[in-house]
Amino acid sequence: MSSAARVAAIQLIARKSPVAVEAGSVNIPEMFGVNVFGLEQIRERLPKAAYESLQRCMERGESLDVQLADLVANEMKLWAVERGATHFTHWFQPMTGATAEKHDSFVDVDFANGGVLMDFSGKALVKGEPDASSFPSGGLRATFEARGYTAWDPTSPAFIRETRSGATLCIPTAFCSWTGEALDEKTPLLRSAEALNKAALKILRVLGDERIGHVYPTLGCEQEYFLIDRDLQVLRPDLVATGRTLFGAKPPKGQELEDHYFGSIPRRVLSFMQDTEQELWKLGVPVKTRHNEVAPSQYELAPIFERTTVASDHNMLTMEVLKQVAQRHGFHCTLHEKPYAGINGSGKHNNWAMSTDTGENLLEPGSSPEQNMRFIVMMAAVLRAVDLYADILRASIGTAGNDHRLGANEAPPAILSVYLGEQLTEVMEGLISGTSGASRKGGTMQLGVTSMPTLPRDATDRNRTSPFAFTGNKFEFRAVGSSQSPSKPMTVLNTIVADSLEHIADEVAKRKDQGLESAVNDVIVEIFKTHQRVVFNGNGYSQEWHKEAAGRGLPNVPNAVDALANFGAEKNVKLFDRLGVLSPKESESRMNIQLEAYSKAIAIEGQSALSIARTMLLPAAQKTQRDVADSLSATKVHGLAIDRQSERLGDMTRRIEDFVHCIDELAEVFDKCENHDGSEFEQACSYRDEVIPAMNRLREQADHLETLTDDDYWPLPKYRELLFLH
Ligand code: ADP
Ligand code: MG
Repeated sequence: MSSAARVAAIQLIARKSPVAVEAGSVNIPEMFGVNVFGLEQIRERLPKAAYESLQRCMERGESLDVQLADLVANEMKLWAVERGATHFTHWFQPMTGATAEKHDSFVDVDFANGGVLMDFSGKALVKGEPDASSFPSGGLRATFEARGYTAWDPTSPAFIRETRSGATLCIPTAFCSWTGEALDEKTPLLRSAEALNKAALKILRVLGDERIGHVYPTLGCEQEYFLIDRDLQVLRPDLVATGRTLFGAKPPKGQELEDHYFGSIPRRVLSFMQDTEQELWKLGVPVKTRHNEVAPSQYELAPIFERTTVASDHNMLTMEVLKQVAQRHGFHCTLHEKPYAGINGSGKHNNWAMSTDTGENLLEPGSSPEQNMRFIVMMAAVLRAVDLYADILRASIGTAGNDHRLGANEAPPAILSVYLGEQLTEVMEGLISGTSGASRKGGTMQLGVTSMPTLPRDATDRNRTSPFAFTGNKFEFRAVGSSQSPSKPMTVLNTIVADSLEHIADEVAKRKDQGLESAVNDVIVEIFKTHQRVVFNGNGYSQEWHKEAAGRGLPNVPNAVDALANFGAEKNVKLFDRLGVLSPKESESRMNIQLEAYSKAIAIEGQSALSIARTMLLPAAQKTQRDVADSLSATKVHGLAIDRQSERLGDMTRRIEDFVHCIDELAEVFDKCENHDGSEFEQACSYRDEVIPAMNRLREQADHLETLTDDDYWPLPKYRELLFLH
C-alpha cells in the first residue's frame, strides 16, 4: 500500500504530546542577551583606554590595529569558552538570501609545552577568508580573483549559537571582494543607513534644527510562517525540495471558517513558540508577540523594533531559530510565501521609521507647528520616494515565491500605492488647495502655522489591503516576502527616502529668500501635487483599483522577472551610485543574481513536479484504474449492468491520458529552458512563460486524479492532513 507511510505518520501524530521546555522559572531579564557579546560587554572587559580607541575606530570606520584587535579577540574568546563554545565563525549574508558560516575551532597545538591551547587572534576576529567562489556574485568576480573576505562589523554584536551538543561563537561580518565590491546584503544596508543619515541631517539643518546629531532608520519585522508536522512533511518531496506543495486537491475544509485567526494556540505549537522565544531572548532578539494567523497552521511572531541593521540580523537569526527549534518539536517550519494553493500565503511586514539620537521619531506627528512642519516634510519625502521609485521597491521584493502572493487577493497588490488614512490625506489636500480640510475649522492651511489634527492610532482604522501603509508613526511595507532577508527592501527604502530628503533640502535652499515656512510650503505642495497619485486609501484587492491605478499611470508589475529587469534602469543605477549605496557594477550583479535565483527556483520546482508526477502519482492512479477494470471484468461475467461504472473508468482513463500528456509537455519545455543560451533575463522569461504554465496544467490534472484515486494508493499526504493535524 503506497499510503502506508502516510497512515503511519498520522497515527504517530495522534500520540504526540508537547515537547517540554524548561518552563516555570523563565526570568526574561536574566535570560535576555546572555548569549550576546556586544559593545557593553567589550566595555566591561576592556581597559578604558583600549575601549575608547576601539570606539574611535568605529566612529571613523578605520581598521583596528593588531594589538587592540588581539585584546578584543581574547576577551571575546574567554567569554565564549566560558559558555561552552568550541568554535567560532564569521557570520555573513551572501547574496543567496540566507546566512553563511564556516566554523573553525579555537584549538591550537601548544608546541612549547605540548597539548593544546584555546586560541583566537585579533586577525581571525577582524578578517576571514572564506572560499567565496561558490557564492553568487552575478559576474562581479568574473574578472578578478575568485576570492573574497569577511570583515568584522563591530556595530553588530557577536553571539553564541547553542545546540544540544555544543556552542559556536558567531561574529557578524560584511562580505566583500578583494577589490572592495560588496558581495553581501549587509554592506549596502549599512551604506544606505548612512546615506539616509546624511540626507536627514541636511534637511533638518535647513529646517533650523541644530540639536539632532544622528538619524537612523528603524525596523520591526512581523514574521509569518507555517508549521507542518515533520512526519508528514518528509513524505512530500515537493515540500522538502521547494518549500511549497506542487500538488494537492482542495481540502473539504480550508480557511473558510476563519476560525484559526487569533484562535487559541495548539499545545504542541505553544510549546514550540515558548522554546523559540527563549532561544531568541538569549540571543538578544526582543521578541514581543505571537499569535495564530489567518490560514490553518499559520502563525506570526514579532519583535520590538530596532536599528535597521541590527533588526535585519535579528530577523535572519529568527528565521534560523524558527526552523531549528521546529525540528526539536517534531515540526517543519516553512517560510515559503505560498506553501499551499488556495490558502493565504506568508509575508513579512517591514515596519519602518526614522529615529534620532535625541530620542525622537521623525515620523511622529508632533504637537508644535515646527514639529508638524518636520513631520509633513518626512511624509512628503516618503510619498515622492515611493512614487518615483516604485519600480525599485517592487524589484526589492521580486522573488519566485512572492509572485504567488502579491495580487492574489489575500496579499497586497503588486501596485505600490501608499495608504495615508483619511486625516492625513485631508491635510495633504488642504495644503495643495491652500485651504483647511473639511473636518477642520477655519483658517488657511499652511505649514508651520496651523496645527495638525489628532491622528488615530487605532488598529481598526487600518487598511490591510495596502502594500505600504502609514500606521500612526511608522510606515509598514507589507509586500515583503516571508522568506526574504529584509536587507534588500530596507536598503532600497533608506536610499529612495534619502534621495527625496536631499531633493527637498536643495529645493528649499533655492527659495531661501522667501522665508523658511513659505519656501517649505511651496516645495511640499509641489511634491504633493506631483505625487498624490500614489496615495490610495481604498480596497487594494478590488478590480476597480487596478483600473484606476492604470488610469493614474501607476506601474503594476505582476511578476518578479519584469520587476527585476526594471532594477537595472539607468535612473536607478545612477541613484544608487550617487548616494554611495551600490556601484553600477554592484547594481548589475544584484539584478543578475536575482534573475538567476528565479530561474533556479522554477527549475527545481519543475524537476520536482516531474519526478513526483511520474514516479508517485501516475502509478497510484494507474493502480486504481487497473483495480476498477479488474472489478468491472469480473462483474460483467455475471451479466450485471455496469454502464455507469464503465463511464467512470472511461473518465478516469481519459484523465490519466491527459496527465501523461501534461508530463510529456512539461518535460519538453523544461529541457528547452534548462539548455537556454540567452541572457539571465531571457532564461527567466522562458521559465516564467513556459515552465510555470506547464506545471499549472499538470497540477490541475493531478489534483483531479487525487479525488478519483483510491486513498490507499495515494502516496502524498493530503491538504486535509498537512493543514489540520498536529
Ligand atoms: P500592529 O498593530 O501592526 O501589530 P505594532 O505597533 O504592534 O503594530 O507594531 C508592529 C511592529 O512595528 C512591531 O515590530 C513594532 O516594534 C514595530 N514598530 C513600532 N514602532 C516602530 C518604529 N518607530 N519603527 C519601526 N518599527 C516600529
Ligand atoms: Mg502590522
